Amino acid sequence: MKQDLKGILQTHFQFHSFKEGQEEVISSVLNGRHTVAVLPTGTGKSLCYQLPAYIMTGTVVIISPLLSLMQDQVEQIRMRGEKRVVALNSFLERDEKLRILNQLDHFRFIFISPEMLQMESVQKRLNRMKIALFVVDEAHCISQWGYDFRPDYMKLGIIRERLGNPLTLALTATATRAVVEDIAQALKLKEWSEYISSVDRPNIALMAEELQDSEEKDRRLVELVSLLQGPGIIYFSSKKKAEESALLLRSQGVKGVMAYHGGMDQENRILIQQQFIHGQIDIICATSAFGMGINKENVRYVIHYHMPLQLESYLQEIGRAGRDGEKSVAILLYAAGDEALLHFLIESELPSDLQIDRMVQCLKEKTYTALWKEEESLVALAGLSENQWRIMSDFLRNLERANVKIEEALLNFKQFIKDRNDYK
Ligand code: ADP
Ligand code: MG
Repeated sequence: MKQDLKGILQTHFQFHSFKEGQEEVISSVLNGRHTVAVLPTGTGKSLCYQLPAYIMTGTVVIISPLLSLMQDQVEQIRMRGEKRVVALNSFLERDEKLRILNQLDHFRFIFISPEMLQMESVQKRLNRMKIALFVVDEAHCISQWGYDFRPDYMKLGIIRERLGNPLTLALTATATRAVVEDIAQALKLKEWSEYISSVDRPNIALMAEELQDSEEKDRRLVELVSLLQGPGIIYFSSKKKAEESALLLRSQGVKGVMAYHGGMDQENRILIQQQFIHGQIDIICATSAFGMGINKENVRYVIHYHMPLQLESYLQEIGRAGRDGEKSVAILLYAAGDEALLHFLIESELPSDLQIDRMVQCLKEKTYTALWKEEESLVALAGLSENQWRIMSDFLRNLERANVKIEEALLNFKQFIKDRNDYK
C-alpha cells in the first residue's frame, strides 16, 4: 500500500515525497476512518483528500467556506490536468448550475459552498451518487470557539447524516483541543481518528517591537516595508487603518500595495487576492478577512500593525509566511494602549438593549433547536450584525450546554450586556 501511495503521488501530483502528516492522514482515510486532521497552514492539506480520490471509487465532495478559496483549489486541480472538477456556488448562472447538477456524478471532485449544500435539489442529487469522501476544509469554521465561525457550517452535521453518513475528513490548521472536539461533535462523527501535528514553523522568525505611538508605528512600518524583500502581508484591526496605510506606503514610493478588507465587494476582493497570488501585487494591507487558505508559497513577511483579537488568529496569520520553507519573518508592532483598541472592538460589537429586546420577543416561546434552525431569519429580524450574533450565540450556546432555559438565558444575556455598558 505504501508503495502505491508514493506511486500515485508521483504520477498524479509530481511530488517525490509526502510532507509531514500527509501519509498518516491519507492512510487513516483509506482505512475507512472518519478523520480530523490538524496540519499547519501550507503543509498540503489539500493533498489529503485529493490523493485518495484516485484510489477510492466515487466522488470527493469538498465543503469550503470561501468562494475565492474554492476557485483557487479548482484552478490548481485543473492545472494538474484533472478535468473532472467543478465548483458549485452562488457565482454560477442558473443555467450553468442546472447543467452541472444534471451531470454531477461525472465529476471526481465537487467543491461546494455550505449554503449551496443546504439546497434540497443539491442534496437529492448527491444522495443518488456515491460519495467516496466528504471533506470539510477549514473545519474550524464549525466551532463557536473558533474566530472564523460560520453559522452555515453548523448545519453540516445534519446534512452529513442526510447524505447517509459518508466517510468524512475534516481539515484545519487550528489546533486547540476544544476546536477538534467541537468539529467532531458538530459533524456528528461517532468515532473518529485524529492527526494533530505540531504548530511549530521553524523557518519563521517571530519578533515584536514596542513603539511610542501610532505615528512612530507608521514610520517604522514604512521603514520595514522598504527593508524587507518579497511579498508581504500587513494586518490591521481596522478597515480604515488598512486603507490609510496602503495610501501612506504608496505615497512613500512603495510599489504594488493594495488594501483588502471585508468592506470591499466580493469581485474586487477576489481580484486583489488573485493578483497577490500571481505576483502582480506585492503587499497587502489587510484586515483579518484576508488570507484564509491562500495558497501563496513565497510570502516573506507578515507584519501585525495591530495585534489580533486571539492568539489563534495570530498563529494562523503568521502561518501564511514562508510556506515554501524559506526564511521568513513575522513582526508585531506594539504601542502602549493597543489592547484598549481590541477591547473597544469587542465592546462596540455588543448588541444594543433594543436589539436584545427584539430578540427576546422573537425567541420567547422557542426551543434552542428552533433557534439554531431559524437563526438567519431571527438575526435579520433583530437586525444583528454577524459579530453581534456571534457574541450572542456563543453566550446562548454556553447556557444551553448548562441546561439553562432559553427565557432565562436571554435575561442573563441582557444582564451581561447591561453590566458591560455600566462598566464602560
Ligand atoms: P494547506 O491547505 O495545508 O495550507 P495546500 O494544500 O494549499 O496547504 O498546499 C500548500 C502547497 O504545498 C501547495 O502548493 C501544494 O502543491 C504543496 N504540496 C502539497 N503536498 C506536497 C508534497 N508532498 N510535496 C511538495 N509540495 C506539496
Ligand atoms: Mg487549505
